[in-house]
Amino acid sequence: MVHAPFSLLPTRFPASFWKQACELAPIFNELVDRVSLDGKFLQGSLSRTKQVDDFTARLLEIHAKMMAVNKKEDIRLGLHRSDYMLDSETNSLLQIELNTISTSFPGLGSLVSELHRDGRPVAVVYFRAGYAPTDYPSEVEWSARLLIEQSSAIKCPSISYHLVGTKKIQQELAKPSVLERFLDNEEDIAKLRKCFAGLWSLDNEEIVKSAIEKPDLFVLKPQREGGGNNLYGHDLRETLIRLKNEQGEALAAYILMQRIFPRASLTQLVQGGVCFEELSISELGIFGSYLRNKDKVVINNQCGYLMRTKVSSSNEGGVAAGFAVLDSILLT
Ligand code: ADP
Ligand code: MG
Ligand code: MG
Repeated sequence: MVHAPFSLLPTRFPASFWKQACELAPIFNELVDRVSLDGKFLQGSLSRTKQVDDFTARLLEIHAKMMAVNKKEDIRLGLHRSDYMLDSETNSLLQIELNTISTSFPGLGSLVSELHRDGRPVAVVYFRAGYAPTDYPSEVEWSARLLIEQSSAIKCPSISYHLVGTKKIQQELAKPSVLERFLDNEEDIAKLRKCFAGLWSLDNEEIVKSAIEKPDLFVLKPQREGGGNNLYGHDLRETLIRLKNEQGEALAAYILMQRIFPRASLTQLVQGGVCFEELSISELGIFGSYLRNKDKVVINNQCGYLMRTKVSSSNEGGVAAGFAVLDSILLT
């Protein structure tokens, strides 16, 4: 689905011409009605057009038949649109044309007016993009991000929620005693810790050494989102060796993670209308929503799931990125 194209802000238009155009509407309506009643005028004016334009000829044919039987239309309905442009040469409102059939966009046009009338502050900013460097091709996008953050709008996510989602923070939270800094409930802490895989920063020389020796047991991740950014196997080893040799801070851009090995099973995947059977593995996502106003937690819910399945030979997992298919679960 794509939205109808629209302008972000309304276009300036002199009030006097607006008034003039509005006043013309009922006059044109009346004119259309009067002219429509003069069958001879219509037939006569279009008689030469009829000779060369088959379409108009067919319409006139129907009209002539109605004239022949003296058909009366007591109830008449017009939905018209008279179009104008402001002529800069003469500084006047000049009519482009008058539409009497299938006049388009009365619905969407008024929605755009409502959109432009935005009088109210923006309540919620939802980011469907903004997680990748390519979403910020120039400084303009960065200043927009800053402006949004400075505003009082509810951001989904705020800059700090965004940062909490980085792989580096995931790795820091997995370190001993860090969860205890943020949560009190020991049971909750234990539940969280139980699901943490092995996570290491790259200043852990021992782990870097093991990863170079056995790259297949690890995933090397940069601070990126959207799939397709992680390094595995041979690439992981080569990158680690290169980063080590560079001796700089380059290692700090990545984290290392224990590679997880789900059991593969035969699955029928459908892509591009074609079904094929492959050994596949799955990744379960659980959605959570949270709304908080100062001390009051308004919503804190588990709210659905996403099952993604991909051929077991593929490292990456994104559906949009073309690696995985959408799936559902059958509880056993
Ligand atoms: P992104 O934020 O780009 O989605 P992820 O951490 O989700 O990054 O990694 C992308 C994909 O790589 C995952 O969907 C999964 O298929 C695979 N992957 C990531 N980490 C691991 C891991 N530790 N073990 C096995 N596969 C992984
Ligand atoms: Mg992600
Ligand atoms: Mg992911």
